Amino acid sequence: SQLEALMSSHIETFPDFPEPGVLFRDITPLLRDPEAFRAIIGHWGAVLPKEIDLVVGVEARGFVLGAPLALSLGAGFVPARKAGKLPGSPRSISYDLEYGSAEIEIGVDSLPRGTRIVVVDDLLATGGTAAATIELVREFDVELLGVSFLLELEGLGGRDRLPAGVPVTALSTVP
Ligand code: IMP
Repeated sequence: SQLEALMSSHIETFPDFPEPGVLFRDITPLLRDPEAFRAIIGHWGAVLPKEIDLVVGVEARGFVLGAPLALSLGAGFVPARKAGKLPGSPRSISYDLEYGSAEIEIGVDSLPRGTRIVVVDDLLATGGTAAATIELVREFDVELLGVSFLLELEGLGGRDRLPAGVPVTALSTVP
């Protein structure tokens, strides 16, 4: 399909980055081709629910993709940031990484009660980041319509680490 061709020609694969044994997918070629970028956002928006109020994007590539996606859907954008970047008293959650841990935060007033939201990120790998983000948005009284990725690395089983009942979609998958 046109979509598969766009994805495979605009995502570059780097073996052993950032450490040995990891096959890193780089989406920056997609971002610097305006026609491909626009087409991908269009395809992505078409597979998401229509009634989204807010798109929640995970720092940092979830910002770059989530903001145009939100605009294309007529929705607003809310950043889920690395700890220490948001003013006020954001809600936060820590989660385990392969080595050490990470913490992400969302502004306490950023997700009003009853808002219909979708969480987006560039890539679903082990699922740790997305699982933590889902847990964090559930602290707000919102309607989580789903979580969606540009690319899902199926072999890492990330989907199985996400809570049952949350629709998970990916624009494209690699084994
Ligand atoms: P997970 O928590 O293992 O699912 O990893 C997902 C997070 O790590 C996302 O925020 C991705 O941006 C990032 N990530 C993991 N692997 C890759 C990769 O191969 N390319 C780009 N980002 C990656």
